[in-house]
Amino acid sequence: MVKPIVRDVLFLARPAVRATANDVPVADDLKDTLRANQDRCVGLAANMIGHAVQILVFVDEDEIMEMFNPEILKASGIYEAEEGCLSLDGVRPVKRYRKLKVRWETREQKIKIRTFEGFSAQIIQHEMDHFRGILI
Ligand SMILES: [Zn+2]
Repeated sequence: MVKPIVRDVLFLARPAVRATANDVPVADDLKDTLRANQDRCVGLAANMIGHAVQILVFVDEDEIMEMFNPEILKASGIYEAEEGCLSLDGVRPVKRYRKLKVRWETREQKIKIRTFEGFSAQIIQHEMDHFRGILI
């Protein structure tokens, strides 16, 4: 189901807890909400639709990638970027890593590890900041 985007900064400042198999419906809502906003948005964290759990989705090439409980294992190549967020107005400067090795769980609780670079790496970092209650 497409959900409204949370813009309440107090709610968005709440850290997200680990996601479990019970949170699969949240992941489905996140994907629906991302698809509905794909003209102006490339990724969403569950916090942004009102659930403080560690699930993110993003557009990776043509498909929507979903991660439960992602962790950054390795990061390199710091640079300055400018980002916007559906929960906020405007764009803001931010420091990101160009290359990331990420470990995450699928909705079936399988462990995955993959290296991401460039825009995908940037989106993952942005959404993981939401899990810590950090806004750009
Ligand atoms: Zn955001």
